Amino acid sequence: MLSRTALLYLARQEKLKDVAARFSTFRKITARFIAGETIDEAVAAIKDLNARRCSASFDHLNESVSSVAETEGEVREYLNVLAKIDESGINSNVSIKLTQFGLDIDPELTYRNARKVVEDGARRGNFVRVDMEGSAVTQLTIDIFKRLRSEFGLNDVGIVVQSYLYRTEEDARELLKIPARIRLCKGAYDEPAAVAYPDKKDVDDNYVRVMKLLLASGTYHGIATHDPKMIDATIDFAQKEGIGQKAFEFQMLYGIRRDLQEQLARDGYNMRVYVPYGKHWYPYFMRRLAERPANIWFVMKNLWK
Ligand SMILES: Cc1cc2nc3c(=O)[nH]c(=O)nc-3n(C[C@H](O)[C@H](O)[C@H](O)COP(=O)(O)OP(=O)(O)OC[C@H]3O[C@@H](n4cnc5c(N)ncnc54)[C@H](O)[C@@H]3O)c2cc1C
Repeated sequence: MLSRTALLYLARQEKLKDVAARFSTFRKITARFIAGETIDEAVAAIKDLNARRCSASFDHLNESVSSVAETEGEVREYLNVLAKIDESGINSNVSIKLTQFGLDIDPELTYRNARKVVEDGARRGNFVRVDMEGSAVTQLTIDIFKRLRSEFGLNDVGIVVQSYLYRTEEDARELLKIPARIRLCKGAYDEPAAVAYPDKKDVDDNYVRVMKLLLASGTYHGIATHDPKMIDATIDFAQKEGIGQKAFEFQMLYGIRRDLQEQLARDGYNMRVYVPYGKHWYPYFMRRLAERPANIWFVMKNLWK
């Protein structure tokens, strides 16, 4: 069976990203995790989520973009998404990746591109979350986020931290001082032991530590996980500290633990589902396989059908 490291290595192969985009035969297999190729397909998926009391966050799949023209295309796509959210009246914000806006080309270009989207979101009263990518760009991502946050409000732009990184507790403390709205996740990239906890137990312990910091801060944060242990720890902590159910939100990925998404929403928690769509599904899809080897069997079964 392919290891997590091997799957994450394959996820980084940029050429496969383009090759995979051309095969619509993969559609059947990717449909579990990806809402479709177009904005309209994602809107339909979000309407369904909203009917199940879940809000959403749009993610246009196309990371590690390598031409300026393509980064401009990504800005246009997100401006269309923000307009579509208003037009259709769905309950959704947006998530962006800075490598999508040119972080591998030029940080200044990235800042200008991201700014256009945050500005339009702010004008519309919507929120833009800056996703966190591999550790090579953690500091750059935080720097660009801080610049955006100094120009826009707390409810206009937010960031993500990953509990597998040693630096995260300190980053979270600094970001809370601004203050900033933070999404806490475990982290999805292949990181060396020099920067990230190699053992899952340490990643989980750090997750709980940072979750407590976030919830105690009084700012509205996103607790992103499918792990029942992390969810229970969050609910326990909130109850013990008298933190209201609506003072934070749980977040999960499209197609993963739908049962738990609906359960938490029914129990009165704010539940947001991250909805990826677009042609460049390959790296995102591979990271989901790496998280859960059982998903590879699901892919194999569908390939033979
Ligand atoms: C809303 C959201 C946004 C995210 N944004 C980022 C980001 O910006 N940067 C980043 O690095 N990572 C991001 N991630 C991914 C995250 O870092 C983890 O890789 C991912 O959520 C798996 O970790 P977990 O907390 O669910 O716990 P795990 O310990 O990995 O999983 C716990 C349980 O959840 C279920 N599960 C988890 N993953 C899967 C899967 N792929 N398929 C089926 N079941 C699964 C299984 O039952 C598993 O036992 C995000 C995750 C979410 C939910």
